[in-house]
Amino acid sequence: MTTKTKPSAAKKPARSAALWEERARLVSTGTAAYTSLTLERGLGAKVWDVDGREYLDFAGGIGALNVGHCHPKVVAALRAQAGRLLHTSFHVAAYEGYLDVCRELIALAPWKGPKKAILFNSGSEAIENAVKFAKAYTKRKAVISFDNAFHGRTLLCLALDGKYKPLRQGLGPVPPEIYHARYPYAYRPPHGLKAADLTAYCLEELEKFFLVDCAAEDVAAIVVEPVQGEGGFIVPTPGFLKGLRAVCDKHGIVLIIDEVQTGFGRTGELFAIEHDGIAPDLMVVAKSLCGGMPLSGVVGRTEILDAVATGAVGGTYGGNPMSCAAALAVFGIVKEQKLVAAGRRIGEAVKKRFDGFRDKYPFVGDSRGLGAMRAIELVADKKTKAPLAPARVKEILHGCEDRGLIVIKAGVHDNVIRTLMPLVISDADLNRGLDILADAFDAFKL
Ligand code: PMP
Repeated sequence: MTTKTKPSAAKKPARSAALWEERARLVSTGTAAYTSLTLERGLGAKVWDVDGREYLDFAGGIGALNVGHCHPKVVAALRAQAGRLLHTSFHVAAYEGYLDVCRELIALAPWKGPKKAILFNSGSEAIENAVKFAKAYTKRKAVISFDNAFHGRTLLCLALDGKYKPLRQGLGPVPPEIYHARYPYAYRPPHGLKAADLTAYCLEELEKFFLVDCAAEDVAAIVVEPVQGEGGFIVPTPGFLKGLRAVCDKHGIVLIIDEVQTGFGRTGELFAIEHDGIAPDLMVVAKSLCGGMPLSGVVGRTEILDAVATGAVGGTYGGNPMSCAAALAVFGIVKEQKLVAAGRRIGEAVKKRFDGFRDKYPFVGDSRGLGAMRAIELVADKKTKAPLAPARVKEILHGCEDRGLIVIKAGVHDNVIRTLMPLVISDADLNRGLDILADAFDAFKL
């Protein structure tokens, strides 16, 4: 399929070029640069750079913008809040916005039983604190996460991450007693196993781990993404999450579900665990909770959230009044604009196209995902599944950028292209973005 797309902007316009140089001069090179863009404004699923060039945004602030850029209701809520109260710190004094967000999160959490919530700033910070709650509650020391997992860049999160380079390399020692178990990755199963056997294999490996590496009664928590995000949009094989729930029940382990990237309609349910119908003990939310503002939270069983000493968790800015105002607007938008259904509808449309790409191009090895959290895995050879080299993946991503589409990578081999477009995107823009991707693929030679 072809489309009219922008010509390749091999040479950057003057302002973009100058600011790119400024970035290199002023900012630590430790922060990733998925594109070479410097943006000025955004609306819905579109952004404009400092030279006035328009782009469709399939990255959505790395999954933080399910309601789209500058949603008018989020902007209005922020404007109204800015004149009332910017900050007090919840440690010093409460404010209703914080309570309203907690009430809403507790109501939305898709399982029964007494629950509480607490707010932080980032996904990493909320994950760290979820682990603290689990340790205090169980009085145990060890934590299990998974290969290919991503939970953040603070030191504890680095230890949880299931990717060594560039996340942990040279930055250790990281907190001890953190172990990585096997996550069922159907496209790359160990020992040539069939996808149908992967759930049983991974759960058996976990029981073996309890015998060999750390007894189950010393494990405080299992931390898991219901669909792995940065790891490459890996959807676990059926029954895996239910199996983890059973393991946690059997051994008194706290199950922490990381919905940071999957939450708020992205997978075609409000939360991804709803596909499996399991109840976590703690659920971590961030990103699309807040329409572009920094806010995260942990919602979970009251007895676990009340297990730490008073003053052991929190922080100066967690649940800032501005972020709370934005989140309350987001809750309304998700309902009014039916973004959960949009996640399903967009997912179906993208799946159709991505399945077609897999059938057409020799370098598209896999098409997978859940709802609008969809990805294609690029390979140098479909038979051996050898990952396409990161530099070659970049060629495709830059090809998209030159044609007016922002789309980003994922995966332990950096060879997965993922879609996190705002769920408010129009059908026309969605199709245009997919056409651009097809154009970039057509121009790519293995
Ligand atoms: N968990 C998951 C599943 C994530 O995708 C991310 C961010 N990509 C994080 C945690 C960390 O969130 P933050 O960058 O806000 O610290």
